[in-house]
Amino acid sequence: QAKRAGRNTYRYYTGSMTEAAQYRLALDNRLRRALERNEFQLWYQPLYRLSDQRLVGLEALVRLDQPDLPPVGPAIFIPMLEETGQIIALGDWVTREACRQGRAWLDAGLDFGRIAINLSPVEARRGGTDERLRAALAASGLPPDRLELEITESGLMEQGEHAEGFLRSLQAQGVQLAIDDFGTGYSSLAYLKRFPVGKLKIDRSFINDLPGDANDAQLVSTMVTLGRSLGISVLAEGVESSEQLAFLTALGCEAAQGYLFSPPRPAAEAAAWLPRCDAPLPA
Ligand code: C2E
Ligand code: MG
Ligand code: MG
Ligand code: MG
Repeated sequence: QAKRAGRNTYRYYTGSMTEAAQYRLALDNRLRRALERNEFQLWYQPLYRLSDQRLVGLEALVRLDQPDLPPVGPAIFIPMLEETGQIIALGDWVTREACRQGRAWLDAGLDFGRIAINLSPVEARRGGTDERLRAALAASGLPPDRLELEITESGLMEQGEHAEGFLRSLQAQGVQLAIDDFGTGYSSLAYLKRFPVGKLKIDRSFINDLPGDANDAQLVSTMVTLGRSLGISVLAEGVESSEQLAFLTALGCEAAQGYLFSPPRPAAEAAAWLPRCDAPLPA
């Protein structure tokens, strides 16, 4: 567009490009390079069951090291990759890398429960998720029931009537499905009942002000009850304090993740959290 509009537009881009636009351009180049060179990393955050505080899973969260630019997290760069369609390539890498890592841990006798990966709604909309997932599972040798796919409530709802079929095609492969950022996306109860999801992840905005905020306390209690009556496991995201943990445990919320337990850490450090597969269950 700049070229078609001629010299003046070009001057606009160079002469008065804001710092924000320059940063965006630099980041865009950085993302492109990182995809080509396989420079993204997966970090892992532990998921704990509250009844016995045992580790039941790990959420894989993508990270980008970039010594030459200010640090940037996925909340910034995932939307950029979604805009350019490069999220397909990243999602494919994330899926393969998580499956490879999971298999390597199992081979080393380490039990992570399940590894959860995040699926962008853009990936889901483009199609081919089913095939890419099948290929990644086959290539890695990770048992499908060791993998969980998280899709946000809003991402699911924007698929409308296709959502159920989409979820069923993934479920047919034996992977587990979770609704991420639950409570922020207006899903209908009728849908929830039909979807083959095994887990609701309560968005951390509802957890933040627990236990003091009476509204949030009521909402979270309702979500826990909803999960129980639908036979869907409920996990609280973003648990940062022992008061929040005590409140959620008393409610009967099944699982939690958050800085109180640990922030996401690189795979080598996450390995230290994992019990051995053959270890006897603690009393
Ligand atoms: P999400 O899937 O809801 O992931 C949870 C986010 O909350 C992570 O941020 C995690 O680091 C952060 N978090 C965990 N515990 C706490 C806590 O106690 N307090 C606070 N304040 N934050 C906590 P992160 O890693 O920056 O990721 C942000 C979002 O980016 C994710 O939200 C997810 O939507 C997206 N994302 C991350 N990795 C991927 C990926 O591989 N693929 C796709 N499509 N999206 C990803
Ligand atoms: Mg997630
Ligand atoms: Mg979430
Ligand atoms: Mg989120």
